[in-house]
Amino acid sequence: MATVDSASTETRQVDAEEARQTAEEARETKWDRPSFGKELFLGRLRLDLIDPLPGSDPKSEAEGEEFIARLREFCETKIDGQLIERESRIPDDVVNGLKSLGALGIKIPKEYGGLGLPAVYYHRGLMLVSTVNPALGALLSAHQSIGVPQPVKMFGTEEQKKQFMPRCVNEITAFLLTEPDVGSDPARLATSAVPSEDGNSYTLNGVKLWTTNGVFADLVVVMARVPKSEGRKGGITAFVVDADSPGITVENRNAFMGLRGIENGVTRFHDVVVPAENRIGKEGEGLKIALTTLNTGRLSLPATCAAAAKWCLKIAREWSGQRVQWGQPVGAHEAIASKISYIAATAFGLEAVLEVSGRLADADRHDIRIEAALAKLYGSEHGWLVADELVQIRGGRGYETAESLAARGERGVPAEQVLRDMRINRIFEGSTEIMRLLIAREAVDTHLSVAGDIVDPKADTKRKARAAAKAGGFYARWLPSLVTGKGQLPGGFGDYGPLAEHLRFVERASRKLARQTFYGMSRWQAKLEHHQLYLGRIVDIGAELFAISATCVYAKSLRDERGDSAMELADSFCRQSRKRVDELFEQLWHNTDAGDRSLAKKVLDGDYTWMEDGIIDPSIEGPWIGENNSGPSKRENLRRIVPPANGR
Ligand SMILES: Cc1cc2nc3c(=O)[nH]c(=O)nc-3n(C[C@H](O)[C@H](O)[C@H](O)COP(=O)(O)OP(=O)(O)OC[C@H]3O[C@@H](n4cnc5c(N)ncnc54)[C@H](O)[C@@H]3O)c2cc1C
Repeated sequence: MATVDSASTETRQVDAEEARQTAEEARETKWDRPSFGKELFLGRLRLDLIDPLPGSDPKSEAEGEEFIARLREFCETKIDGQLIERESRIPDDVVNGLKSLGALGIKIPKEYGGLGLPAVYYHRGLMLVSTVNPALGALLSAHQSIGVPQPVKMFGTEEQKKQFMPRCVNEITAFLLTEPDVGSDPARLATSAVPSEDGNSYTLNGVKLWTTNGVFADLVVVMARVPKSEGRKGGITAFVVDADSPGITVENRNAFMGLRGIENGVTRFHDVVVPAENRIGKEGEGLKIALTTLNTGRLSLPATCAAAAKWCLKIAREWSGQRVQWGQPVGAHEAIASKISYIAATAFGLEAVLEVSGRLADADRHDIRIEAALAKLYGSEHGWLVADELVQIRGGRGYETAESLAARGERGVPAEQVLRDMRINRIFEGSTEIMRLLIAREAVDTHLSVAGDIVDPKADTKRKARAAAKAGGFYARWLPSLVTGKGQLPGGFGDYGPLAEHLRFVERASRKLARQTFYGMSRWQAKLEHHQLYLGRIVDIGAELFAISATCVYAKSLRDERGDSAMELADSFCRQSRKRVDELFEQLWHNTDAGDRSLAKKVLDGDYTWMEDGIIDPSIEGPWIGENNSGPSKRENLRRIVPPANGR
């Protein structure tokens, strides 16, 4: 049970039910617009929702192309990606150059001084900068996808938009949700926002962890908890806060395995007074705002993953043709050829997923929360595997740093850096495990809305009876629709040429997926949520089916421009993906899940500590989780431990 519901910022104790309820309350519950992803999980391949791919208007396209050309020139002539890596810092002239190109306001509407470009060009911009150094992609996306401009654009009042959006074109912003004790589970959020008696302001206290851009941000969006009081529901609330406000200190510049150039900090709020006009949305709506912002904001990570995969493809091609071992280029050995094939097919697949999702986002006719989440999950998992395969293809040189290679007189290829930089994508903006749960929740949403009360232990007999009647009607129509479909017709999807067979596969597999989801629900009912691996496989199958569909649609859209070669890449991607789908279906019911669960429990119970004999733990002493208290910083008079550089 929650024990703290006041202004205190001490650790909040929260049980599983409250954590679940908090996440549930923050969900967007309405489905007002069609969703390709949702239909797919219900066994319906609604290709008409993504084919033909929505286009953008010619004027924005021309402006987008012009911006991309300027950005490319800047990247090629003015940024040294290896310098960022070496110095673990993005130089001021690069930050300022990006500002003057308008790169901080790619998506900010023109009326507020931004470039007002479609999402597709935002993604292309991210792809360019992040291949120079992924820290640049993190800088721009932490600012634009989750930082101040996006929630203000989506949820701010007209006055707030006028006040903050023009600043966001020139100033860097950050998104502050995570705390030492709050990672995936926001119900534990402890930073407090206590309203003043006159209602004109709030006083914030708390500590925020891993704030990307937080070290040098000018404006931040902070999630803080307004305490419940008489006549006040309170709850997690979003605030825009000036980073120069008295009482804010940045206490550490965090260093990571990768993304060495990011300005990521620990930010402490001590009695920081924020005007009530800076609250975005109502009290208690903060988490919903954060999660809704992420729904489309999540597409920035797939952009950096697709870009990395394309770069891996280039290096794999150039290197594998050059390096000769055992009498032939390494790329001619079958074991390496299969890696090259995976990298090429996956790069195409990731670009297809990004392009389809981006165009859907721009068209703004569809609900794309499932597609964006699938794109994040899929892009980060495969982006990582692709980078790992590149390191393997490069052999010892894959493990050597670009600087060391260059110092020996060889081409300084940063393969190991890309692997390190890509690793975080599986963790932030929703870890893979959380994304699977989140998507699974959406995938079963229709079932819960028609039959949820039947399995809800809290529902009374009357509610259960009503739900049974409602569910009876729905399933009487839905279940028979899963038996046959276009995927069984030999000529189905004929206008896709050689790719038609893959869409027929998707059509059949999506019906099977829906049946399996239903079986899982029937078998475990309310306990289904504890079968995370089952749900995870359901989601992974959905991700593959979405990727196959996107790949076919994208290849078809490129047919005039690229001819057979796009179709060939798509065909290979689909074949590889289908193999993964077959394996995942097989693993739904043939797996080691039960045994693994009990083994893990025994590990946690300490049954196998003897296995840890004979090693040394090099960890530095300290508590697992740092302090999360309020009060002044231990380092008195600290403003910023990393002074902002000139011009920032
Ligand atoms: C480089 C970097 C930049 C970041 N930038 C920002 C930022 O700008 N703003 C911000 O607010 N945050 C930021 N974060 C925080 C990031 O979003 C979190 O790390 C992420 O949400 C995961 O939280 P956690 O690390 O506390 O993991 P935990 O929540 O402690 O999870 C630990 C592990 O358990 C798994 N897990 C947790 N709950 C469940 C569950 N219910 N079921 C199954 N598995 C579960 C997780 O997937 C993970 O594998 C950043 C982090 C890093 C490292």
